[in-house]
Amino acid sequence: MNLDEPPIIDLQSDDYFMGEAIREALEAYRRGEVPVGAVLVHEGRIIGRAFNQVETLKDATAHAEMLVLTQAQEAIGDWRLEDCTLYVTKEPCPMCAGAIVHCRPSRVVYGISDPKGGAAGGWINLLQSDNLNHQCAITRGVREQESLAIIQQFFREARAKAKERARERKALDAADEPEDVDLWSE
Ligand code: ZN
Repeated sequence: MNLDEPPIIDLQSDDYFMGEAIREALEAYRRGEVPVGAVLVHEGRIIGRAFNQVETLKDATAHAEMLVLTQAQEAIGDWRLEDCTLYVTKEPCPMCAGAIVHCRPSRVVYGISDPKGGAAGGWINLLQSDNLNHQCAITRGVREQESLAIIQQFFREARAKAKERARERKALDAADEPEDVDLWSE
């Protein structure tokens, strides 16, 4: 046993619920959506589950978190999601973090940190801002590697498909060509 580790309190359940969020992310992956999944838990029960559906719904706001918040509000019959925990595979963006603060869940648990666009401390921290009227506890890095692997696989395949399309159009992919070849000389 590593005595440097913090005491295990609800690590088991965080792992479990993040596993459910990962299942949602995998469903997004299967449907060709950027694979992010979320579940919302109230008193140990999942009251909402969703995955990113921006392409399917042709709606830039259809992030997993937005969809799961709406579901949970319907389930509870209140916009206040007090005593709820949101599990999401990737750090929320500013839009989602803003929505989360409005719904007031007590805690947000996420996997992958996003130093570029994350709004739970990666770039900015809207979930714990004194300027807003609610602050959430945050737990970071839960099952991060699994969620990261799914996203990396998705973008690897997306890049490969884009390259394939470019090849089909006989377009030139500069990254694949040696620098010293003058492709336009003919
Ligand atoms: Zn978002």
